[in-house]
Amino acid sequence: MAKVVCVLYDDPVTGYPKSYARDDVPKLERYPDGQSLPSPKGIDFQPGQLLGSVSGALGLRKFLEGNGHKLVVTSDKDGPDSVLERELPDADIVISQPFWPAYMTAARIAKSPKLKLIVTAGIGSDHTDLQAAMERGITVAEVTYCNSISVAEHVVMMILSLVRNYIPSYQWVIDRGWNIADCVARSYDLEGMAVGTVAAGRIGLGVLRRLKPFDVKLHYTDRHRLSPDIERELGLTFHANVESLVRVCDVVTINCPLHPETEHLFNEALLGKMKRGAYIVNTARGKICDRDAIARALESGRLAGYAGDVWFPQPPPQDHPWRTMPHHGMTPHISGTSLSAQARYAAGTREILECWFEGRPIRNEYLVVDAGKLAGVGAHSYSAGNATGGSDEAARFKRG
Ligand code: NDP
Repeated sequence: MAKVVCVLYDDPVTGYPKSYARDDVPKLERYPDGQSLPSPKGIDFQPGQLLGSVSGALGLRKFLEGNGHKLVVTSDKDGPDSVLERELPDADIVISQPFWPAYMTAARIAKSPKLKLIVTAGIGSDHTDLQAAMERGITVAEVTYCNSISVAEHVVMMILSLVRNYIPSYQWVIDRGWNIADCVARSYDLEGMAVGTVAAGRIGLGVLRRLKPFDVKLHYTDRHRLSPDIERELGLTFHANVESLVRVCDVVTINCPLHPETEHLFNEALLGKMKRGAYIVNTARGKICDRDAIARALESGRLAGYAGDVWFPQPPPQDHPWRTMPHHGMTPHISGTSLSAQARYAAGTREILECWFEGRPIRNEYLVVDAGKLAGVGAHSYSAGNATGGSDEAARFKRG
């Protein structure tokens, strides 16, 4: 029997919900590219329930305990005295969501001699030292596509919010004002702007498709080029590298995974090549951007706005400059954990666990690392190495 350690974010401060704003979530048939939705043998939750917080337990408690496994659920994940650190020595499986990641560094992997499987309940396994997982023969899996469209919707929302100056205008209402000039002095139309995505994978392509009706000029860069049919249909301009893309774009949205190749890709030098007054929306990973260079670019006016929901580390310390830099539209990491998305990745996590316990192969598209090397989506979209460096700073959040 296995010991499963599941690291989840805290319940709402008002307690675990007793009711919800809506009675159901739409039932999807397939993902946009035809990939099938998670298909576990069963689920023990109602889609639309809060599953990603501690009391929700990803809907796994009945399934795991009913099959004789031990389930430990905690939000206490950072620092040497955390519950996670205490539970690792005899853990077989660790599950966490990127929103509240269990940073599985090489040191933690070394403290977990029984660990065989690390599941990302979501997409993006950069919080695990993939190099260390490969060297130890640990399987790493994520629930590919589960929340890609959730994020694409969030990206469109954030682009419009920044360009149209929504958040400061909303604030004037809360402050009982009617300060139209203050609101519009930084407000533009998106129509006609050049919008580019760094990566046109599931999220990036979803963003391009959603932006097409806004009559913008669409640009992208990626390691693999999209088909000529898609390029034609969306009127895309391909750039062989990110420098070429940022030189011409008014809005840049970042949609690539964090891996050694993309860590701090948006540094002082790249920001210096962007158009003055460009906007960045980064819902991919905080560490793809140089934290202080972004804050400086907003202060100098190089960037007109920066929004996103991803930080490094997570949770970020109270004094993280992105909390207070000018012209930002940051949220905590929420775009991929809408109630709609939670139902999909909870079911996907259950599917991965069912396969694991029954000795059936995990879907190739869910694999990041397997049998000592990058596999599945990992082999396509990641590069070998480690991107968890500095994650121990997350422990500072607790100390205020
Ligand atoms: P996909 O695997 O579908 O797409 C990733 C794309 O990034 C691929 O097309 C890949 O290229 C491309 N890519 C990788 N490295 C580079 C590079 N150096 N330069 C340009 N392109 C690159 O994943 P998703 O679109 O579903 O998700 C992307 C990322 O978004 C995740 O890894 C995660 O970090 C983040 N995410 C954030 C969420 C949130 O809640 N904010 C939720 C879900 C994901 P190719 O495969 O062609 O080599």
